[in-house]
Amino acid sequence: MNERSHPSKGLCCQHCGEVIHKEIDCIAHHITELTPVNVHDVTISLNPKNILLVHHRCHNQIHERFGYPSTQKVYIVYGPPLSGKTTFVKQSKGRKDIVLDLDELYKAITLLPAYDKPTEIAQNIFQLRDMLLDQIKTRTGKWSQAWIIGGYPNFVERERLAHQLGAELLFIEATQDDCLQRLCQDKDKLHVQREWQQYIQQWFLRFIPDPPPGLNLRQSAVNWTRDNRCTESAILRYHHWFWKKLKKEIK
Ligand SMILES: [Zn+2]
Ligand SMILES: [Zn+2]
Repeated sequence: MNERSHPSKGLCCQHCGEVIHKEIDCIAHHITELTPVNVHDVTISLNPKNILLVHHRCHNQIHERFGYPSTQKVYIVYGPPLSGKTTFVKQSKGRKDIVLDLDELYKAITLLPAYDKPTEIAQNIFQLRDMLLDQIKTRTGKWSQAWIIGGYPNFVERERLAHQLGAELLFIEATQDDCLQRLCQDKDKLHVQREWQQYIQQWFLRFIPDPPPGLNLRQSAVNWTRDNRCTESAILRYHHWFWKKLKKEIK
């Protein structure tokens, strides 16, 4: 078995040997694949000898070459506009994966350039998206993995979607300054800079990050609202309030 880490470089991929630079690029491959039957058997699911830590791209190769049954994993890749979500998915996806991205759907049915999205088409786009989301949810077809790309700034909305689809959330992090700087350097968006500036600013205004680990959001919201029924919108309001408080504390 290969060494997992290099003394100076950090974590290395056990398939190609290259360094895994970011945590988000790393995935655990189970040599004995997990099934509903063995997933609770810790000698298989948590046994380090059964786990290879590899790049996403290498994980696809392993599965394609050795014909492991596909587990049809679903990922929601979210983050601000121009944070690099599409680039990440392109680097991580395999040939038999499907990608759901509203921008690409627009391009597919209008043949217009990426920045031109007539609102008159929106209803058709949303219906296409919902149909694909349903295919992903029901694991229709023989695709290996599905990647859903979107802003999803709102914690409760993305949690709900992840739960409905049985998906894992992957956050592509970037600061507002990073995104605005990339916008300035993007020649294709020169004449739509103002709109994109707004997209970016709106995303950061609406962004609610995941609650800190260890915080029981529902229980805290119940305490806060003194209402045991505590609806989802109450949890959202609580988290919003909590996040604002936290931001002030940080500043
Ligand atoms: Zn690798
Ligand atoms: Zn695997």
